[in-house]
Amino acid sequence: MFTQSGEWAIISRHRVVITYLKSLKFRVFLVLLLAGWLPMLIVASGILDSYRERAIKVRGTDVQNQCRILSNQLISYNYLKDPSSELIGGELTQLSNLYDGRIIVIDENFKVIRDTYGLIEGKLVVSEEVIRCFQGETINQLSTKRYIEMTIPIQEADSQKIQGVLLVSVSTDSIWDNLDVLTGNARIFVLICGVLVLTFAVLLSYFLDRPLKRMIHSLQEIAEGHSTEDLKVKTYTETEQISQEFNKIMNQMRVLDESRQEFVSNVSHELKTPLTSMKVLADSLLSQEEVPIELYQEFMNDIAEEIERENKIITDLLSLVKMDKKAANLNIEPVDINDLLELILKRLRPIASRKNIEMVLESFRPVTAEVDAGRLTLAFTNLMENAVKYNRENGWVHVSLDADHKFFYVKVMDSGMGIPEESIDYIFERFYRVDKSHSNEIDGTGLGLAITRSAIQVHKGAVKVTSHLGEGTTFAVRIPLNYIA
Ligand code: ADP
Repeated sequence: MFTQSGEWAIISRHRVVITYLKSLKFRVFLVLLLAGWLPMLIVASGILDSYRERAIKVRGTDVQNQCRILSNQLISYNYLKDPSSELIGGELTQLSNLYDGRIIVIDENFKVIRDTYGLIEGKLVVSEEVIRCFQGETINQLSTKRYIEMTIPIQEADSQKIQGVLLVSVSTDSIWDNLDVLTGNARIFVLICGVLVLTFAVLLSYFLDRPLKRMIHSLQEIAEGHSTEDLKVKTYTETEQISQEFNKIMNQMRVLDESRQEFVSNVSHELKTPLTSMKVLADSLLSQEEVPIELYQEFMNDIAEEIERENKIITDLLSLVKMDKKAANLNIEPVDINDLLELILKRLRPIASRKNIEMVLESFRPVTAEVDAGRLTLAFTNLMENAVKYNRENGWVHVSLDADHKFFYVKVMDSGMGIPEESIDYIFERFYRVDKSHSNEIDGTGLGLAITRSAIQVHKGAVKVTSHLGEGTTFAVRIPLNYIA
């Protein structure tokens, strides 16, 4: 039975093995080893096999040729009828000794005339091979691993008649001996090469893997917060590209983090300002005795205004947070943009009329687009509200709508105070207001344009601003007619 720690040890060992088997290092090692070693093994065994086949074939042909010469001699010496020729007898013995084999001479009656082993002379051999040879079929076969057996007909050169058969078996021992030596040498060769390939594979996989290890180490350092340095592993094009892309992401995250921190501190500050004012107002009332009712009313009015301001900031913040949420929350549907703009203008006209500002909508064509009506209404309301807020008495606000086959374009132009050049780049930042001192005269949170930009971006659109100080400002918005996910 396992103890719990024993089981854990086995599981973690198992994990280590799997991690190693899955690693690039092991795979490179395996590929190198197989690519270096396998072909060598195959070639070595192939060479040995083909040597063996070739050697046996050559030996067979040699013996066959010798035996054919011999069979001619047997005919010319009429050996089958009169086996007394010492010359032929000597040659038979010599040949069988030369190939470490046995030669049996059989006459047409299947009787053994001569056996170089001297074992079956005078006996009959009616084997299948012999019969087939008499029928004109030469058999050259390897009967056992160590012998080549063959039958050669004894016949006159110009005659079809087969007068006898030479039954020959020769040993292939010498070939196998050679083969054993060669196999031994090949084994040593393969072994030495194997060790070299193995060393090479280990070293190469180690060196190939090293930059990746370095990269992982650096990434771990960054992840654990021990390092803020850029990732720089330039060994391979791939590691260099990964490093670059990673650094890009890190920079984006740093910027994001900084802007988040700044946002939080801005939010806290903006939310605190009205509270501080209220506290000052309330304290001053409380610190006085017998405060006249008029003063109470005045201070309470101020407090109500501060509450209103606080409320506006919170509403804008909530809108902004909602805007920043992913596109998945969008409510995309075909919307009549003319109607949408008309409705906003209608709502703002009473406010504009307080400063006697004329609001005009100029539409070049009817436009229907796939958008989130709620978010776009907020975006255009902010632009038009600003055009009214930062306008002069008796000024004008001109809104135009146009479209082509891909986009629709909305321009909001005003005859207002304009935006200084140095501020243009910042007006879309959260809480940015051109002149803070204005904030008492003109209400605002500095969040309106941030909301507008966010709503336009979520529709994959763009917004541009041009402005002349003291003359007026134009916001130009471009949004795709069809929603791009
Ligand atoms: P706010 O709540 O202050 O209006 P916004 O984000 O809507 O915040 O605008 C940021 C700043 O940009 C404003 O405080 C104002 O100074 C400037 N601004 C925006 N629109 C206009 C405009 N049409 N004319 C002049 N200044 C503008």
